[in-house]
Formats: sequence, structure tokens, C-alpha cells
Amino acid sequence: MANVWYVWIYILVILGYEYNAGKADIYYGTFESEACPECGPWGYTINTQIESSVMHFYNGNVKGVQGAFAAGGGTCIIENGKFDKVGCKIHGKDAGYYALYVAGSRGKSSCIVNGGTFKSTSSQVAIYVGNGTPGDGGEFKEATLEINGGKFISSLKGKVVQVNDKSQEGNPLGDFKVKGGEYSSSVEDYLDPSLKTEVVLQDGMHSYYPTVSDALDKAPTGSDITDLENPPAEGTTPIEVELSDKNGTGKEVTLKADKDGKVTLPRMSRSGYNFGGWRDKKTGKVYSADTVLNIKDQSGLEIEAVWEKKETPIVPSIPSTPSKPSKPV
Ligand SMILES: [Zn+2]
Repeated sequence: MANVWYVWIYILVILGYEYNAGKADIYYGTFESEACPECGPWGYTINTQIESSVMHFYNGNVKGVQGAFAAGGGTCIIENGKFDKVGCKIHGKDAGYYALYVAGSRGKSSCIVNGGTFKSTSSQVAIYVGNGTPGDGGEFKEATLEINGGKFISSLKGKVVQVNDKSQEGNPLGDFKVKGGEYSSSVEDYLDPSLKTEVVLQDGMHSYYPTVSDALDKAPTGSDITDLENPPAEGTTPIEVELSDKNGTGKEVTLKADKDGKVTLPRMSRSGYNFGGWRDKKTGKVYSADTVLNIKDQSGLEIEAVWEKKETPIVPSIPSTPSKPSKPV
């Protein structure tokens, strides 16, 4: 009788059936792991491991030395939460890897992130997509990540994400698409085609918008705005124009000129106001929206939005129809 069981277990193992290959919803909780690849054995604090699995992570705190969240296989949807790749007590802050790792190491993996904060304190990127390292990448299957929102911070200067995409020889199919979110370095190479403007906040975080007008509308004071379709020349200090919007939101931002020193003045809108163009603060000259300004020789040019309050229309009152006097009896 025992032999029959052995046969069944053997068949299940070769077919790839494993325990709990289903659906997991996490609504809240704190998840911590001190598993460190240098102390051994390694392990992400949360790691999906089967292609058929679906994990929906709504909120929670996840901390790990190896890394916080890994999509090793299957589908993951992350709505919110705090994901920290932390240091090891013995090996210091640089031990371990990523805050978010989408690997395709156990079957195909795909991950959608709608929110949350992902932070790596080590000298590693915060996000890693696809793994082609021989002996390390598991099954080398397709690994896709789409980000719609959230914050992604790496202490590694200038690099928040590593994507091993199809173009790299001997690599798994790592694919990364940015549709939203804030990043500690540029992710310009992975933007959805609808996003054409980059905003760099005062704290160095990068975010992306469809147009310069959208960016100007959302960007806080002190931001730098670049039209990615007309970017400054590489390796040069970009010429900038200060745009202020005192009558509207009170903010001041910088718009970078293209490689020829030109900027196209954005069109703005605000409820209750008519947009009257952009006024040169020194000369008083007013330019209409969509004017292409050559600012090559105008360093320190400052222009401000002109807003005209819409008149509150006077609605004429309809005179009431006088009622017919009743017939005298
Ligand atoms: Zn360690």
C-alpha cells in the first residue's frame, strides 16, 4: 500500500503540483525576515513561487535583508504598503538585494504596482526586473512589471531600477513599464508612450506626465520640468526659464529649454479664471500660450502666468407672469 503513495507523490512532484498553489489576499500585517544571503540561507520576506499563483497585496509593512517582496512566479498586484530592504546585523547595510524583485525564477511572473513605498538602503537598486545571471535566475522565464503609482527609492545614486530586457543576450524576458509613480532616479527609458514630460522635485524624486501643462499643474514649487520630446542637449547645462504662477497656486517652477535653447510656453487652465498668457517680469511683454521662445541669450528669464478672473455672469431674472385677477362676483 505504501508503494502506491510513493508513486502518487512522485507523479505530483514531476507535474509541478505544490502545496498552496492558489490565491492569497493580504489586507494588513507586519512581515519581517532577517534571512541574509551572506549569513545564509537567503530568502525574500514575501516571495511568490508558482506560476499559477495570484497574490493581491492590499497593505502592510514588509521588511527584509535579502529583500522585501519578490514575484518569483505567478501574478502579483500591490495596492499599498511599505517595503524596505534593510541591512543585516552582522554584514551591514549592503548585504542583500532589492525592495522589489520580479524574477521569472519559478515560472513566468508578472507584477502590477498601484501604490506603496519601496526603499532600498543598500548599494542596490530598489527594483530589479528579470534575472539572467547564470546559476541564479532559476527558470529564466518572462518577468514583467507595470507601475501605476508608488514611491521607489534607492540609496544607490542615479539608479533606482535594473531591467534585464529582451535585448540583452542570454537574458530572460524582463519587461518594465512606467505609467505612474515617483522614482529616486530617471526611469525615462521605460515610460508608457503617453508620458512625455519629466518633473524632478526638490528632493530629487522623478515623476512623469503627458504634457508640460499637466506637469506644471501638478508639480510643486522648486520642481524642474523637462519636455522629453524636446530635451536639452546631453552633457550641457540646460538653459532654463522660471515660470511663476502667483495668482493661481503661488508656485514657481523651472522649465528646461531644448537643445537649441527654445521653450514652448504651456497652455494653462484654472476654474474661475481665463488664462491670459505669460508675462515677462522684466519687460512686461505678454506671450500667448504655444509661443516658442528662444531663451538662448536670456539667462535668468522669469515669466509669470496671467490670470483674469471670470466675471460672474448676471443671470437675468424672468419676470413672473401676473396672475389673472379673479372675476368680480
Ligand atoms: Zn548577514
